[in-house]
Amino acid sequence: MSDPESYEIFAVKYGSMVENRFRRDNFILADDHAAPMPIDYYVWAIRNENRTLVVDAGFDYAEAEKRGRKVDRLPRDGLEILGIDAATVEDVIITHMHYDHAGTLDDFPAARFHVQDAEMQFATGRHMCQQPFAMAFTCDHVVGMVRRVFEGRVVFHDGDEEIAPGITVHKVGGHTMGMMFVRVLTKRGWVVLASDSTHFYENLEATKPFPIVYSVADMISGYDKIKAHAESGSHIIPGHDPLVLARYPALNSATEGIIGRLDVDPKG
Ligand SMILES: [Zn+2]
Repeated sequence: MSDPESYEIFAVKYGSMVENRFRRDNFILADDHAAPMPIDYYVWAIRNENRTLVVDAGFDYAEAEKRGRKVDRLPRDGLEILGIDAATVEDVIITHMHYDHAGTLDDFPAARFHVQDAEMQFATGRHMCQQPFAMAFTCDHVVGMVRRVFEGRVVFHDGDEEIAPGITVHKVGGHTMGMMFVRVLTKRGWVVLASDSTHFYENLEATKPFPIVYSVADMISGYDKIKAHAESGSHIIPGHDPLVLARYPALNSATEGIIGRLDVDPKG
């Protein structure tokens, strides 16, 4: 491994589902299945003076309409608030290929996409004949990724690998066959961008697995792997929790509720 560098990290919220989202949608073994529990949709930006990487590609307005979600801004427009031009980003880490993470690949025309071998196998293989596994994928997104394989623009990973000095990916499976999280060195230590290896803080903290799942066993082992790779509990960033923007300072007063700064300690 090369000498690690440290980075700024930002959570960029691009959408949400507030109505019609309940605890039963977020937890197996939830204590109160009928209580409302909104979900937020994010992409993440990692940058220092040497490079800028994006984690996940979100989805667009048409996809939101189809699935009853709300997109506030395209992921590329959220990144633009940070001064990041999606058209020039060279590396996009796709933590898994579900519709809400692999949907705007066309907005990153210069990028290589980092994916686990097992995720491509999952998204193009036998399990997609089964609705419980296929429902969270969008065929056109998967086909788009396959096209990029043939263009030589997909970087495959198998397990735990370094992407750049101070940035590593870690396969956990569980939610999907090739689900991975990203670990980033910051000035406050190693932060884990868990993405959907834990959707909410509560999945991991209370060991309540998320209902869309390939392997419950791997999902639960994944919680331990996340904890082992983060400096502390407050260095773990779940993939969909509205609490993230409540706990971390905004980039500035104009981006309150849109962009959270994750390389600094949570507020209070
Ligand atoms: Zn997701």
